[in-house]
Amino acid sequence: MGDDFSEVVKRVLASRVGNLCSNPECRALTSGPQEDPTKAVNVGVAAHITAASPGGPRYDPDILPEERSGPGNGIWLCQNHGKLVDNDPARFPVEVLKKWKSDAEAEARNRVGKTAAFTSSPSIHLNIGARVRISPIVPREFEQSDFILEEVTEECFVFTKVDSTRRVDIPKTFVEKIHSFGNSKPARIELSGRLQWLSRKRIFDLLPEKPPAGAAGAYGIGKDVDSAYAVRFSINGTFGREARLPELLAQGWLVFYDSDGKYLRWGDQILVIRWL
Ligand SMILES: [Zn+2]
Repeated sequence: MGDDFSEVVKRVLASRVGNLCSNPECRALTSGPQEDPTKAVNVGVAAHITAASPGGPRYDPDILPEERSGPGNGIWLCQNHGKLVDNDPARFPVEVLKKWKSDAEAEARNRVGKTAAFTSSPSIHLNIGARVRISPIVPREFEQSDFILEEVTEECFVFTKVDSTRRVDIPKTFVEKIHSFGNSKPARIELSGRLQWLSRKRIFDLLPEKPPAGAAGAYGIGKDVDSAYAVRFSINGTFGREARLPELLAQGWLVFYDSDGKYLRWGDQILVIRWL
């Protein structure tokens, strides 16, 4: 069985992270009430950072048995992530687990004694100067761009796009989730709708619908029109085959977005314009 954790160690590990899974992408609550009012249910596990016995995931022969079964060698996870980290030790090496653990503890430390209003949105927190990527953005190429957090107001995060002076205000209510990866990688912000560059105005607008997955998602959400649309509305543009879009964009054409943020499609062609 190896050097397993005692009940006391398990309880300490769970409490140090507020009974939440330590995987930053998860944070599932691991305890709650049972039907029986005298009992609580626990769906968390104390996983070993280095394995309890030789041959196990991330086993370290150089540490003492009491270290192996001590709180320093454990990480509190939900059952899914407990299984995952033990089945795939290459993807979850010791350093990653230690980072998860210290971040989860820091987060719990921040939340102790704070009101529910504060703790209900713990994942929506960023420091000024943080570098982020935002998704989904349309056109999707902008998802590769970094933004810097300039300011946080009551309602909004204010970002500036790196390498430009373009500013974007994103209401906190529009933020679905923020994934932070420490200082090494930009954080990823997931929006409940989409941030889109409307080529007419050449500024970013927030729109409530997410773009579909797949190729069309790169250009947002399409709206079917007829071939004469551009002429009828005196739009100085042309329809280009969707498969050729990367080429057209490289030539300086832009996808034309209507005021509702939808691009216009005629069959397999998309309306593009040149910015004058
Ligand atoms: Zn989890």
